[in-house]
Amino acid sequence: GGTLYLVATPIGNLEDMTFRAIRTLSEVDLIAAEDTRQTRKLLTHFEIQTRLVSYHEHNKRASGPELIRLLEEGTSIALVSDAGLPAISDPGADLVRDAAERGIPVVPIPGANAALSALIISGLPTERFLFAGFPPRQKKALNEWLTSVAHEPGTLMMYESPHRIEKTLAAMLEVLGDRRIVMARELTKRHEEAARGTISECMIWLEEHPPLGEYVIIVEGRTAQSGSSGSLAGTGIAEMADGVP
Ligand code: SAM
Repeated sequence: GGTLYLVATPIGNLEDMTFRAIRTLSEVDLIAAEDTRQTRKLLTHFEIQTRLVSYHEHNKRASGPELIRLLEEGTSIALVSDAGLPAISDPGADLVRDAAERGIPVVPIPGANAALSALIISGLPTERFLFAGFPPRQKKALNEWLTSVAHEPGTLMMYESPHRIEKTLAAMLEVLGDRRIVMARELTKRHEEAARGTISECMIWLEEHPPLGEYVIIVEGRTAQSGSSGSLAGTGIAEMADGVP
């Protein structure tokens, strides 16, 4: 039978493509991509000519079984998402589950990931963390979601879009208290930036720095001091210099 390769792609900087990702995408029979137009650009840049099919949130029920059938017939398939690691806040987890259930080999080709990239520059504890994905949009669901992670002792990691971030921070302040956070945007890109401070400080900062680009929000886990920002050392917004080599 065939093998399913989960191939990481850059989260903004094409130099983060790995040699192994390029070779794997060149050698497989078929690439299943979340957005074929986006992936086409990547393939063109790296002169990869492999056939491309779409596999995304809205066609995965039809496309998934077809990909499984091809794998069982011996086709090797690489799964890529728009950015970073497939199956992390991306369609893909379902395909991996179905492949694993049928004994189809699933091989990771690791590389860039937005959440972990933000975590390691955050300065917050990294020995224990919880990735929570995208917060729900609806206010009640958002509050319940925040309540469900409020007692997590590890550092929290979440994704958020620019037009939602202010509402999400307001809800976080309400449910989690004024914890230290880091908001990282445009990671690996020219205007990469990380703002560090308490939630309330970051809300003020956002008023002067209109939200742009997609964010990773890193939040300190529950601590004895959580909720009382006054007792936390090292607060105050620190901005990263623009410009990534
Ligand atoms: N699979 C991806 C990964 O491994 O990181 C995540 C896909 S998820 C649909 C996209 C979200 O990741 C964005 O909304 C944003 O929150 C975050 N993200 C992706 N690229 C980023 C970047 N360059 N800087 C900051 N956040 C990014």
